[in-house]
Amino acid sequence: MEVAGTPARHVSTAGGEAAITALRGALPDGAVLTDPGATDRYRRDHAALVEGGVPLAVVRPRSTAEVAAALRVASAHGLRVVPRGAGSGLSGGAAAIAGGLVIATEAMTRIIEVDPANMLVRAEAGVLTGDLGAEVARHDLWYAPDPASRAFSTIGGNIATNAGGLCCVKYGVTRESVLGVTVALADGRVVEIGGGTIKRVAGLDLLSLVVGSEGTLGVVTEAVLRLRPPPAEPLTAAAYFPDLPSAGRAVEAIARARISPSLVELIDRATMEAVEDWRRLDLDLDAAALLLVQSDLPDPARRDEIAHAARCCAEAGATLVVAADDEADSRMLMEVRRLCFTALERRGATLLEDVGVPRGRVAALLERIGAIAHETGASIATFGHAGDGNMHPTIVFDRDSEDDRARALHAAGLIFDAALDLGGTISGEHGVGVLKLPWLEAEIGADVRALGRGVKAVFDPAGILNPGRAL
Ligand SMILES: Cc1cc2nc3c(=O)[nH]c(=O)nc-3n(C[C@H](O)[C@H](O)[C@H](O)COP(=O)(O)OP(=O)(O)OC[C@H]3O[C@@H](n4cnc5c(N)ncnc54)[C@H](O)[C@@H]3O)c2cc1C
Repeated sequence: MEVAGTPARHVSTAGGEAAITALRGALPDGAVLTDPGATDRYRRDHAALVEGGVPLAVVRPRSTAEVAAALRVASAHGLRVVPRGAGSGLSGGAAAIAGGLVIATEAMTRIIEVDPANMLVRAEAGVLTGDLGAEVARHDLWYAPDPASRAFSTIGGNIATNAGGLCCVKYGVTRESVLGVTVALADGRVVEIGGGTIKRVAGLDLLSLVVGSEGTLGVVTEAVLRLRPPPAEPLTAAAYFPDLPSAGRAVEAIARARISPSLVELIDRATMEAVEDWRRLDLDLDAAALLLVQSDLPDPARRDEIAHAARCCAEAGATLVVAADDEADSRMLMEVRRLCFTALERRGATLLEDVGVPRGRVAALLERIGAIAHETGASIATFGHAGDGNMHPTIVFDRDSEDDRARALHAAGLIFDAALDLGGTISGEHGVGVLKLPWLEAEIGADVRALGRGVKAVFDPAGILNPGRAL
């Protein structure tokens, strides 16, 4: 698949050289990479079907001022700019644009301040989410957002995609933990939006526009993030279901039960088969689905909550329900979830999608995905965050077969259509990027899309930031 791009100003070879000279003049030695051997690894993100273009240059700034300097050069020379964190994105939003500039935040890794009294942390955008979590844990604090990629994705990337994760069902998505951002705008101005207060309603809520803007409004250089007291280590219940409707009923019953589990994950049979094929965990492969539920309340509420969730599963028709007695058992029950994606990746290239539906319709979504797999012949396994309706249908395909690549894209399109049909969304957490752009208008409508583009025009009038993506 070609990376879509707005036809911006053409930069001639001479113009390209002038831009590189200007970048070298504006940034310290070693911060500007132009050698294809060095820039190649910035061409793609984790979206298997987005090729990415050959960038004119990649810059690796070390401060907000250096990001701003790079943007001033890009603006002056009409370079299209792709902001990039760790490149773990799954929708092509960080793939390079041919002849453009990549601004990679990977060298901006300072955790500037942990403020235990106010339960805040201020950090640069390139800090890995897992590193931030480990640092605040030393102060007996907890950063809730937990994308499965937290060990290798950045705070800036998480903010730009409004990343979700396994605990969103209780603690919400990244936006719920962002109090403020420093943003370098396309023309090189630097603005602070929000800050270190929990509540703040002065002016329009531009913070919420920046969170999830996928690099189209500015480059996030620093963030002020909200911390919480660490929860108890979770206890887990696991339940097998003979069919998808009974698993769906359990998800609904848990939602209706007015309890607040910290995780409600569903794994379908195809995913269990891939895990079992790789690591023998003695999973019940006759079951249509496995549901995992966790509670992180302090005892005894934790045990009560897990018992309550287990009852919901049994009453919905589970064939087997197991509740962990202790943390070690709990970790064992969760092992299967940790292995899902890697087990599927072992079978071929993957298109890991992230559609969301109202949580009462998770079973209907899975049935539609089953029908799509049957109809297209695509290999699709699904797991994900059933508790908030956000599932990961994962299409496994042969990267070297043109037919298979086309089949994978076709099946993905049918899955997006199905999610929209069920009143859902094409993206619960990964963002629209390049891959899902053709479906955006079907979800949000032409008027809302035009409003979004109007907002971008205010932030980035020349349209140099991630053009042709996300909006
Ligand atoms: C194995 C695996 C598991 C994953 N699990 C999850 C999950 O559980 N939940 C989830 O939500 N996602 C998940 N992802 C997807 C991905 O990790 C997230 O989208 C993550 O937030 C991307 O962070 P990044 O630093 O890699 O950003 P990148 O991939 O580099 O960029 C992502 C987007 O953000 C923009 N961007 C990056 N940094 C900045 C910045 N500083 N300022 C402005 N724009 C910026 C880019 O232009 C691009 O549009 C997973 C990916 C993989 C490979």
